[in-house]
Amino acid sequence: MEPEDRQRYLKNLPAVDELLRHPQIQSHLKIFSREWIIGSIRRTLNKKRQAIMISNDPHEAASVSLLPEELLAAVEEEISKASRPSLRRVINATGVVLHTNLGRAPLAAEVCKRLSEIAGGYSNLEFDLVSGERGSRYEHVEEILRQLSGAESAMVVNNNAGAVLLALNSLAEGKEVIVSRGQLVEIGGSFRIPDVMKKSGVRLAEVGTTNRTRLEDYERAINQETALLLKVHTSNFRILGFTAEVSLKDLVALGRAKGLPVMEDLGSGCFVDLSQYGIEKEPTVQDAIEAGAGIITFSGDKLLGGPQAGIILGQKKHLDIIKKNPLTRALRIDKLTLAGLEYTLRLYFNRASAIEKIPVMRMLSCPAEKLKSRVKRLQRKLTGDLSHAFQVSLREEISQVGGGALPLQGLPTQVIALRPLKISAASMEERLRKLNPAVIARVQEGEILLDLRTVAESEERELIEGVRQVLE
Ligand SMILES: *Cc1c(COP(=O)(O)O)cnc(C)c1O
Repeated sequence: MEPEDRQRYLKNLPAVDELLRHPQIQSHLKIFSREWIIGSIRRTLNKKRQAIMISNDPHEAASVSLLPEELLAAVEEEISKASRPSLRRVINATGVVLHTNLGRAPLAAEVCKRLSEIAGGYSNLEFDLVSGERGSRYEHVEEILRQLSGAESAMVVNNNAGAVLLALNSLAEGKEVIVSRGQLVEIGGSFRIPDVMKKSGVRLAEVGTTNRTRLEDYERAINQETALLLKVHTSNFRILGFTAEVSLKDLVALGRAKGLPVMEDLGSGCFVDLSQYGIEKEPTVQDAIEAGAGIITFSGDKLLGGPQAGIILGQKKHLDIIKKNPLTRALRIDKLTLAGLEYTLRLYFNRASAIEKIPVMRMLSCPAEKLKSRVKRLQRKLTGDLSHAFQVSLREEISQVGGGALPLQGLPTQVIALRPLKISAASMEERLRKLNPAVIARVQEGEILLDLRTVAESEERELIEGVRQVLE
């Protein structure tokens, strides 16, 4: 393109003021400040300018629309984009209960209600209302955690990664920590056990092999430098076949004989034995304490169903050292998380109602039969006038626990499978994702699968409206 053409196009762009004066834009001044609107206009004009600058084809440059109504529409789009919150609610129709990318555990309704009271006002976060003196934020959950788990002492931090870092650093800095090779896991993102150990200032002593580690392997590795025996829950994978792992109980017995504490990173600690709901047996938090672990750590937002947090439980002598570590301040749990955690933990005082009230527990324990009737209802509401737009079928599928917990555990479920007739399944998935609230669904062999296990009943209407909107 000739430079003079380019100049001409650039010159034709209106001035910021000109757009600002337009009544359509002026109407936004009721909600947004002048400066903020000017910012949106500038960003729009800059995008247009750039489109002209980079195009070499005069037709293309000419097609960068400078029509007033289209420019106005572009400014409006910029305004609406910038005014929409980035973090938004979505409907999780994937059936993955602890969906890491969708925020893991949704909180219980009554937890949210009380959380918002704490969020919007003052609280006795670090104030003892009985003595009128300074209190500790950890006291709000310590006693509850002790009662629920049977542990002598408790502490909470931001997340389980922080809990592992803090516990290792407090108990074994500059010393050796023995771990089985089969447990040197990567949890995802940047959490790898060997890396966290290094960052916490301890030296890793690996024992055994990938598939088999015996008690003698630990025993032989113990020396003057050893400070701790560590067991890590291999949350997100399983080694099957010719395997051997040392039980926590045996490790504790060895630790006792050698005067060494045993720590277990449980990953997703759970207070309820889920095997009664057909889910594979996992040691509960109480089991680990009962087996004599000196310290255990686990997440607040995995199977527990609370907010993101790292829970540390164990013997008082170890917890006292952990609590004095200056790192606790860097990993300190904030009041909103603490409120969410305390109220979630309280629900466990009544296990039966915890299963109903805590969304993660409710979703995991929900039988396929119950989902079937919901799916049928959904199907009835979708067919009829929309039957020209898709084929629908109901089918058995598998929901997942997710969150790196119970990787082999499939939860039998009933899904509604939609085969769009006029658009591709991929394009339907994209349209669902761009709704507000977005609907996140699985795509499988030309079909959209909606799994209601992870959809709250209160979200069903929005889900139906979303699907209708996308197909109409
Ligand atoms: C998930 C997990 C972690 C990390 O927990 P976050 O709460 O995500 O920080 C650490 N260890 C194990 C074994 C886990 O499963």
